[in-house]
Amino acid sequence: DPRLQGISEAIRVVPHFPKQGIMFQDITTLLLDHKAFKDTVDIFVDRYRGMNISAVAGVEARGKLPGEVISEAYELEYGTDCLEIHVGAVQPGERAIVIDDLVATGGTLSAAIRLLERMGAEVIECACVIGVREVKGQCQVCENDYAQADFAE
Ligand code: 5GP
Repeated sequence: DPRLQGISEAIRVVPHFPKQGIMFQDITTLLLDHKAFKDTVDIFVDRYRGMNISAVAGVEARGKLPGEVISEAYELEYGTDCLEIHVGAVQPGERAIVIDDLVATGGTLSAAIRLLERMGAEVIECACVIGVREVKGQCQVCENDYAQADFAE
């Protein structure tokens, strides 16, 4: 796909953030690049058009929800963290996808899938802008190996 090069070039790599040795992939520069961001959204829209998706879930950074929630703990490199969703945010039987900026171990997406499934939603697929090639991922929910995101290729 000829759009992928522009998308890739719009992602800023920040060495040693948030700690020494991490090459942080920063998509905020992609969000500021109108063409590259539109191309990214178009690729997602093309993939899911006609699939009767009723909910698009995203993982928010470090948020805290004020209402009644359910939570799922997940593994980080060191220790654990947890994701929450408001009770009633999705309805049983909804067809959901999960979108995130980057997948590494898949721990975050797996926790998001478990949350949505506990609400009775069906998770059709997860998609990320960036896949980390060095990390071999396995979904902790279905135990299938996941393909590295096409976008990273
Ligand atoms: P995983 O749970 O798959 O190991 O890590 C993916 C999660 O960590 C995603 O929610 C993603 O936003 C965040 N993350 C990890 N490394 C990076 C990075 O280099 N850049 C960005 N933007 N997010 C990262």
